[in-house]
Amino acid sequence: MKKSQAIKAVVFGVVQGVGFRPFVYRLAHRFGYNGWVKNIGFGVEIHVESRKLQDFNPFFQALRIEKPPLSQIEKIDLKPDKFLNCSRFEIQKTEQSQSFVFISPDISICDNCKKEIMDPKDRRSQYPFINCTDCGPRYTIVKALPYDRNQTTMSNFQMCPQCQKEFTDPLDRRYHAQPIACPECGPEVELKHSSSGENISGGIQKAASLIREGAVLAVKGLGGFHLVCDPFNEQAVQKLRTIKKRKIKPFALMAFDLNVIHEFAHMDSAEKEQLCSARRPIVLLRKKKDIPGIAPHLKEMGFMLPYTPLHYLLLQDLDLIVATSSNPKDAPIFKQESKGLARLCDYILTHNRPIHMRADDSVMKIVDQKPLFLRRARGYVPYPQSVPESLASSQQILALGGELKDTISLYKNGYVITSQFLGDLNEYQNYKYFEETLEHLSHLFEFQPDAVASDLHPDFHTTRYAQRMGIPHFKVQHHYAHALATMLEHQIEKEARVLGVILDGFGYGGDGTAWGAEFLVSDYQQYQRIGHFKYMPLPGGDLAAKQPWRMALSYLMDAYEEKSPSVPSLSQINSKQLRAVQQMIQKDLCTPPASSCGRLFDAVSYLIGLSPPQVEFEAEAPMRLEAIADENTPDCYGFQIREDSLPYVVSFSKTIRAIIRDLDQKIPESVISARFHNTLLEVIIQISEKVRQKQGINTIVLAGGVFLNQYLLSRTTKKLRNLDFEVLRPVQYSPNDELISLGQIAYALARPKK
Ligand code: ZN
Ligand code: ZN
Ligand code: FE
Repeated sequence: MKKSQAIKAVVFGVVQGVGFRPFVYRLAHRFGYNGWVKNIGFGVEIHVESRKLQDFNPFFQALRIEKPPLSQIEKIDLKPDKFLNCSRFEIQKTEQSQSFVFISPDISICDNCKKEIMDPKDRRSQYPFINCTDCGPRYTIVKALPYDRNQTTMSNFQMCPQCQKEFTDPLDRRYHAQPIACPECGPEVELKHSSSGENISGGIQKAASLIREGAVLAVKGLGGFHLVCDPFNEQAVQKLRTIKKRKIKPFALMAFDLNVIHEFAHMDSAEKEQLCSARRPIVLLRKKKDIPGIAPHLKEMGFMLPYTPLHYLLLQDLDLIVATSSNPKDAPIFKQESKGLARLCDYILTHNRPIHMRADDSVMKIVDQKPLFLRRARGYVPYPQSVPESLASSQQILALGGELKDTISLYKNGYVITSQFLGDLNEYQNYKYFEETLEHLSHLFEFQPDAVASDLHPDFHTTRYAQRMGIPHFKVQHHYAHALATMLEHQIEKEARVLGVILDGFGYGGDGTAWGAEFLVSDYQQYQRIGHFKYMPLPGGDLAAKQPWRMALSYLMDAYEEKSPSVPSLSQINSKQLRAVQQMIQKDLCTPPASSCGRLFDAVSYLIGLSPPQVEFEAEAPMRLEAIADENTPDCYGFQIREDSLPYVVSFSKTIRAIIRDLDQKIPESVISARFHNTLLEVIIQISEKVRQKQGINTIVLAGGVFLNQYLLSRTTKKLRNLDFEVLRPVQYSPNDELISLGQIAYALARPKK
């Protein structure tokens, strides 16, 4: 940039409602520039000028480096402007516009607010609703845009004169902090008996002592209520397990600070960075000292740091609590008090700032220094995703996702907003949540779709919903959508082709059969199914996913055509039941075939005695298998790739027979597990090499729920990269079905428009 007297800049990104304008105001003061800053539809416009010729670069460098923590700059367009001889720098009024206005996710309490809350002399000392321009609730309290207090759930609170003064002073750190509050004028906490609803005095401190005594409390957070108890009190944990109807599914923990976590888990710098980030996800960390009953059979425990002032105050005296979503099984998290919530706990620690939009805690682990999301919600939604220029369109497109782990995505003006995780839409309450979220996001972003995209599955609620909308409807194959979403996230251009390696549970195939482990040569226009795992019978259909022993039997019968050997883990199953399922498979009764990878994991986990006959939660058997895999076993089992015609078909009958041999020879389970994982790795490598040879494709996309498996993901990535492949995997999104709606958007964008 040459020297000039005046510059106009347009800053795109999350720059509204996050203290960006007062920040620019202060920065201009520091540099001695005059001009203005104002919100425009899709960002912020800045005019800076000076009487002398200036190099404005340092100003914009500072703008990028020092930007407010909640803001995210997508890009800055700069051009020289006319010198207007402004007499000062000012913040101008907002112009209304029809464009996309971004809104910040909810952000954890900042250091400045933490200092004030701990300062006995501060007027907000110990006040649980302290916030500022850099921190506090956003997405979960906004009812409509523009983001003004009267359009949030703070509208019922009248600001006191002191708050008003801070709110209107551009040099104050609470300038235009819409949820501004203080003990004089803001929300209040309340502690109640769950059954009688009676108030209990003592507030947060009393709540902490009740937790210490073994009670289960519902605590109102940002996007919903947590259920909270003392993790070291086995009876309390057991009570919580009974309440949640969860025998072994892991609970997340909230720790006062990193020192507390340090005692129980290993952390590297990337993990610490995520834990401490303003988005405050739950991060799965390798256990150092186990806390019995929190995450049985797994090698990781999930930790997060306090993110609201209320959590922070609650944890002053507690160090560590269990903090799990307050949802009953198969329903969304509670956002307000109700009989249902009261049934889940002994006491309720609540407050009178309503939650407008629910959002669960986000969950991730760090793989190869980067996040791998198990669930993307609070702190990340509704952050926008830009699409590659070659895909951009003037149309607005809605994508409804799949069915399990659903999300929805909205495309408008070059960006996609993907909703928080919505759960399994087969459950009525979750379906209502889906409708609520769709309505809310449409309203918030003034969204009117020209087209809708859904899964291919004819019986999904989302497919039917799309059909009823009466607008152009695109149906996208499930695993192809996994690949497309990853391509879009990584800004793959329209002409490029990749090999999508999608290892997943189940999806409706392009040919109407059940797909699951797919090798798809893909661009945005089309895919070619170049390979898949061999179809295996799923005895009992859906039941096969809940009872891994059924898959174990299925794989065993496939591997041994004559008489299957007896396997110790299968002797747990009642012989009548075993015979019945055997016959189902033999006679092909109620045993739909599928090329699933999740079911293969189930079978192996069960065969080597790691999985119970009936699992409690999805991916339980695969997670147990991964948890024990030996890190230092390099070898793998045999397998077969049938390649006389396309698609390639991968058969694991050799693998299964080798596993049985290893079992006979008393090879440790940890070694068997590692060999099995390495086998899948080898399959991926061989097929990738074949496709590179025949089609010249060098980019591999790894997605699908199975790639939540760190052992497999990390090793596969490394090995492929060593062979000079470019490897992409979802980083901002989960590789599981939360990704589907984003992929559907990519597909619809790439279609020619009529
Ligand atoms: Zn703050
Ligand atoms: Zn006040
Ligand atoms: Fe999937």
